[in-house]
Amino acid sequence: MPHTTKYIFVTGGVTSSLGKGIIAASLAKLLQARGFTVTIQKFDPYINVDPGTLNPYEHGECYVTDDGAETDLDLGHYERFLNVRTSQANNVTTGRIYQSVIEKERKGDFLGKTVQVIPHITDEIKNRIKLLGKTGQYEFVITEIGGTVGDIESLPYIESVRQLKWELGQNCAVVHLTLLPYLATSGELKTKPTQHSVKLLLEYGVQPDVLVCRSEHPINKDIRKKIALFCNVSPEAVIEALDASTIYEVPLLMEQERLDEIVLKKLNVTKASTVQLDKWKNFLEKFHHPAHEVTIGLIGKYVELKESYKSIAEAFIHAGAVNDCSVKLDWIHSESLTEENIAQKLGYLDAVLVAPGFGNRGIEGKIAAIKYSRENKIPFLGICLGMQCAVIEFARNVLGLKDAHSREMNPATNSPVIDLLEAQKNISHMGGTMRLGSYPCHIEEGTLAHQVYGKTDINERHRHRYEFNNEYTKDFVNAGMVLSGVNPAAGLAEIVELPSHPFFIGVQFHPEYKSTVENPHPLFVGFIKAALAKSAAK
Ligand code: GLN
Repeated sequence: MPHTTKYIFVTGGVTSSLGKGIIAASLAKLLQARGFTVTIQKFDPYINVDPGTLNPYEHGECYVTDDGAETDLDLGHYERFLNVRTSQANNVTTGRIYQSVIEKERKGDFLGKTVQVIPHITDEIKNRIKLLGKTGQYEFVITEIGGTVGDIESLPYIESVRQLKWELGQNCAVVHLTLLPYLATSGELKTKPTQHSVKLLLEYGVQPDVLVCRSEHPINKDIRKKIALFCNVSPEAVIEALDASTIYEVPLLMEQERLDEIVLKKLNVTKASTVQLDKWKNFLEKFHHPAHEVTIGLIGKYVELKESYKSIAEAFIHAGAVNDCSVKLDWIHSESLTEENIAQKLGYLDAVLVAPGFGNRGIEGKIAAIKYSRENKIPFLGICLGMQCAVIEFARNVLGLKDAHSREMNPATNSPVIDLLEAQKNISHMGGTMRLGSYPCHIEEGTLAHQVYGKTDINERHRHRYEFNNEYTKDFVNAGMVLSGVNPAAGLAEIVELPSHPFFIGVQFHPEYKSTVENPHPLFVGFIKAALAKSAAK
């Protein structure tokens, strides 16, 4: 029987960083655990067409989908929670909305009319909101509205939610996430900021159906009643969201608070199976009670901002649980590493990961870390720039090409072992023009990569402009580096490894983007196994 798609909006009030993405993903998980098909999308109010041109200090990690969209990091949470792939359509920004409206205007689609925020921009927003619903694939589409209610930038989105609430009637619900600050001096949770933020929503014509209240302390019945009274919701629709020990606890906390049940009731869904979260709970059980621990050094240049390597950190959590192992990540700034201090800085680690990145800053520290890991047989995983640094290190210290480098860092090098991809040479625009998204990779049998993946053909996501320079293939192979994974169509090296080492592997792609709770990534699983072996041998 064809279903009617139900739309759930998640808005935020009082302050940013309350975790709308995690609440949206947790609600989606609970609906999925009841057997419904669900997708989540994020609408971001900034003017950039996508976050691909933002540096991680501005916006944390840029997440990449199979179809090559550069997106907000919340999409990573959606995939990790739901184990369902997202796409270009799951992340829309104001920049993209205006770009398409202006393109239509130039084509003459609105001939004779003044193009305005209402209805033209809001129509475009509404069409994009309904795009995934119209595919017929999903019973529920959850839309997270970025930013905080009251921001000038979010106004057209809130207005679109108002219009859709009117158009969709019972097929639409609004969940508003807010904060109850705790005043230690009076020992009280304060409700006023929540009241104000709901008042603001009401001013825009949107009555929230459910209030999820972030709080450091339990919210008692009286506070729930008070919030309900001031905000026109029933007391049961005031949901407590306490700080959790891990984001993966949040679906269970939301289940206890009956968030899914209340939302289903609002949407008039009377038939629903019970929540089945056995796999999820098994994962959490292992996460909370690991038998082992390893310490892995994450070498990067944005370590003061852990959001920059979000997917890597999460991939370690997923793969750690499979190995019954807690992974302690030590974030090490590559600029702090030199040939002289490297032994003291890295000597205690069970494994070393060199992170992706752009530009010259900290590059020599990364190369020093790789040399140390290679020579001292410390398990090593290099991702994207990390793989490129492994190639440079090998060229300099094993092949003796002293000025070997990537043309990204040194365009004048005599030994460009990493060079600009052919397809990149005539590109002048920076936005959305890297080698992006999922590409196939063929793995040579009998290699470490083959052992780790357990198969010869894989697909992994990319985000880069530079690549291993095949003019050097023979030299590398003769000196003992194996190019174990290659893109079949273009012949590009995707995986390099050293068989003389217990675990030394560099990948041009980003395995971290595909790791989920239910499908931990094999490379991370194998890497932690190697770290465990290293730790046991100490
Ligand atoms: N800067 C490198 C390139 O563009 C690596 C990119 C990355 O690590 N994501 O090829």
